[in-house]
Amino acid sequence: MAVTADVLVVGGGILGLSLAYHAHRRGMKVVLLERSHRAQGGSVRNFGMVWPVGQPAGELRDRAIRSRNLWLELAEPAGIWINPCGSLHVAHADDEMAVLQEFASDARQDGFSAEIVDPQEARRLCPGLKPDQLRGALHSREECVVDPPQAIAALTNYLAAMGVEIRKGLPVVAAGSGYVRTSDGTEYVGGRVLIASGVDFTTLYPSRLSSLGMRVTKLQMLRTVPQPEADRFGPHLAFGLTLLHYAAFQDCPTLPALRARLEQDYAEHLALGIHVMASRNQRNELVLGDSHVYGNDITPFDSDKIESLILKYLYARVDLGDSRIQARWHGQYAKHAEKPLVVEDLDRDVVAVLAPGGSGMTMSLGWADDLWSRWLGIA
Ligand SMILES: Cc1cc2nc3c(=O)[nH]c(=O)nc-3n(C[C@H](O)[C@H](O)[C@H](O)COP(=O)(O)OP(=O)(O)OC[C@H]3O[C@@H](n4cnc5c(N)ncnc54)[C@H](O)[C@@H]3O)c2cc1C
Repeated sequence: MAVTADVLVVGGGILGLSLAYHAHRRGMKVVLLERSHRAQGGSVRNFGMVWPVGQPAGELRDRAIRSRNLWLELAEPAGIWINPCGSLHVAHADDEMAVLQEFASDARQDGFSAEIVDPQEARRLCPGLKPDQLRGALHSREECVVDPPQAIAALTNYLAAMGVEIRKGLPVVAAGSGYVRTSDGTEYVGGRVLIASGVDFTTLYPSRLSSLGMRVTKLQMLRTVPQPEADRFGPHLAFGLTLLHYAAFQDCPTLPALRARLEQDYAEHLALGIHVMASRNQRNELVLGDSHVYGNDITPFDSDKIESLILKYLYARVDLGDSRIQARWHGQYAKHAEKPLVVEDLDRDVVAVLAPGGSGMTMSLGWADDLWSRWLGIA
């Protein structure tokens, strides 16, 4: 017998959960279908950085801040561990400092609270930073950290407790206007079908989804053992290479000069898409990454070279209390060359919501809220 609902969501990553949450809040009956018994995709493999500072000023940064606020609102009722840790972009050269100063001055005008701090203050905020070559840092208070596997599990359980029907362990193998079907033949009937299947574009509407210009990216990650001193690391850490990575810095006038220098000094890092960031989770472990390898170059095997380039860059800048690595993994996300999110009508009332790129944890709660407002005709 068919199961009926107002909304059928395919995919139990952060995007699917966010779409389900906002539909439920608006009074709809929701069924969410996840192929694994526990989400395994990008949403449990990331840094857990809720990262407004990486978004360009305007609509995207505003949405990132609203999204961050939604994480904070959900934390207590859903039992999600969250730490409003802020972030430091740490400079070790004058050209890195120049980009940060330009960013800080624009950010001030836009009402975004990020300020330049001197080396002493940077080390007060993060005693794990080495003093060598330290020029200063951009300090933002807007960022938070969640522990991705814990956050996704807690949000899933919270939605189930609120009345969202969560079906796990079977893939959706067919979808169309008003229905989806899982591999055991069960049919689910609903008014609206939302496909948030992460990097899987080959199961549902394969030719349409494969032609939308999304590209899969593979990222390598590491996690240290718990650090012995509780407050040695606090804010998220990012360094010079990260300034080439996020759209937030792309309009800084001195960025091209920094890029030219980094292309010379860090050619290997740039060839492998490496920029180095660190977040600290609830167990005081540091989550470290990452690299970016694209599309046809993706292999299932992880690279020692990527790991050693990440760690060498990091060790030149921070002093870990305990540098033993206890976990290594990679994750994937889909990204579109121009769009921050792909929202594509596939059929009547069947919409794909895909490719949040490297910002899915930061943006999904806000995007899902905005999409439901748009679909329901609320300004
Ligand atoms: C290593 C790494 C680090 C990152 N760091 C950050 C960060 O710190 N901050 C940030 O904002 N973003 C970060 N990101 C990006 C972020 O993790 C992703 O944008 C986000 O998780 C994508 O969420 P999603 O729900 O679209 O996809 P996914 O999490 O991949 O979820 C898709 C789900 O759909 C399910 N599914 C697929 N097909 C079917 C089907 N046919 N039937 C049923 N279920 C199906 C899958 O099993 C999966 O659980 C990072 C990503 C990676 C890989």
